[in-house]
Amino acid sequence: MNYNKKTVRDVDVKGKKVLCRCDFNVPQDKATGAITDDQRIVAALPTLRYLLEQGAAVIACSHLGKPKGEWKQSLSLAPVAQRLGQLLGQEVIFAQDIVGEDAQGKAAGLQPGQIMLLENLRFDPGEEKNDPAFAKALASLADIYVSDAFGTVHRAHASTAGVAAYLPAVSGFLIQKELEIMGGAIAHPKRPLVAILGGAKVSSKIGVIHNLLDVADTILIGGGMAYTFAKALGGSVGTSLLEEDRLDYCREMVDKAKAKGVEFLLPVDTLCAAQFSADAQPELVDAMAIPDGRMGMDIGPKTIARFTQAVQGAGTVIWNGPMGVFEFPAFAEGTRALARALAESEAITIVGGGDSAAAVAQLGYADRMTHISTGGGASLEFLEGKELPGVACLLDK
Ligand code: AMP
Repeated sequence: MNYNKKTVRDVDVKGKKVLCRCDFNVPQDKATGAITDDQRIVAALPTLRYLLEQGAAVIACSHLGKPKGEWKQSLSLAPVAQRLGQLLGQEVIFAQDIVGEDAQGKAAGLQPGQIMLLENLRFDPGEEKNDPAFAKALASLADIYVSDAFGTVHRAHASTAGVAAYLPAVSGFLIQKELEIMGGAIAHPKRPLVAILGGAKVSSKIGVIHNLLDVADTILIGGGMAYTFAKALGGSVGTSLLEEDRLDYCREMVDKAKAKGVEFLLPVDTLCAAQFSADAQPELVDAMAIPDGRMGMDIGPKTIARFTQAVQGAGTVIWNGPMGVFEFPAFAEGTRALARALAESEAITIVGGGDSAAAVAQLGYADRMTHISTGGGASLEFLEGKELPGVACLLDK
């Protein structure tokens, strides 16, 4: 897949209407609807400011939540328009619809340096279906399409991919950064490339392990997915997370790593507990001999030391998935130690979105990583080597 895509700097946007797909899918207070974390709006500012400064008239759009093609007032983007206006320090004109009369009228009258926001794209069933008529209607509002919502590039929706059939399509700065750093790490990594994979399930990372075996020098496996590997290699795992139907796959991956000369490290010790709870008493055991009635909850100190050593020698580290149940303080040390090792390393450090990004932020290391991906599912599919529809549709450089 080609990651060398045209960006907003490669097109003349002066006096043009620019449709900018942002990720304004912000968390909201369930009772009041108030925005509880505006990071995603803040993240969109550099691209939006650049477009406005260059003399574009900007038509921003996004989805919010899962209205499933129905109009739901609680998922209106009106509060986002207001917050965006405060952050930009200028009025954000809000369209009461997406491609209807209100949006069309406001878009037609929009002047260079002005910005408007369309209503929640997913209120229209055509968005997630990638309906060509809806994509065309969106495109008809503008002259240029800018894609800056990395969190949705793995989806072929009207606003993330379909619209590019009708307009010149380029990336904004957020996507440019994702492509440069993650694309670079996969295509020509500073070696050794160490991949750390954790999280709950082997099955959700199958494609990633498979793809990374072709590019990584070392793969470290932690988290809930390690127990299926341990069992596959003859260990006992007590009541730990286990995917029986993935045992063969795990053996295959270990064999493939050997054949390719990829160092494949599994935990050697495990912190386990009698029950899955925050106040469970941690017990340290051999990773291949978790007693009956005990479940693995985190990697142990020997594993932490071995994994940390691998990170210290790395040129590039890609991390996706926590090492243990980091939400419980007694079982957060594995994840914390790895986050610290990444923060202190000279390597290029890339943290996948979703839970790993949340863990790094919660542990206070977010600003010490080279890059934290803004897309959970998207960054996984990226690491799987899959073609991302929202990237493939952009103009090549
Ligand atoms: P994922 O979304 O696949 O990255 O999984 C993240 C989740 O995996 C987090 O909520 C962790 O609590 C959970 N997790 C990590 N290690 C374990 C474990 N040993 N047992 C159960 N859950 C785990």
